[in-house]
Amino acid sequence: MNRPVGGKRAVWPALKRGLQMRCPACGKGRIFHAYLKVSDACPVCGEELHHHRADDMPPYVTMFITGHFVVGGLIAAQEFWPGFPDWGHMIVWPAVAILLSLWLLPLVKGALIAYQWALRMHGFDKDVK
Ligand SMILES: [Zn+2]
Repeated sequence: MNRPVGGKRAVWPALKRGLQMRCPACGKGRIFHAYLKVSDACPVCGEELHHHRADDMPPYVTMFITGHFVVGGLIAAQEFWPGFPDWGHMIVWPAVAILLSLWLLPLVKGALIAYQWALRMHGFDKDVK
């Protein structure tokens, strides 16, 4: 890979690549080899990705975003469609919460791994030595 060794890594481009579930280094290889299983290394550039320590942060951030969206949406729906039945809310909003969480979780995890990579956290600083 042709990039400066030990230099500063740009955070925003890495976050953008992570949100696209792409390697933070090259932006081409996929971070995950399954829904949330992180590849040990990028299949395109070989950047090691197994150093990540995303742990519980992706679910936390996903729940934070989803909760605000669902509660805000529910309140807005009750305001703008006062005749919408309660049983409709009981079907729509849990479904929105589940689908939004499943969609957001890998994106958020990719972004957090890319953030750790950009800041050279954990083992991502190995080429500094
Ligand atoms: Zn790569």
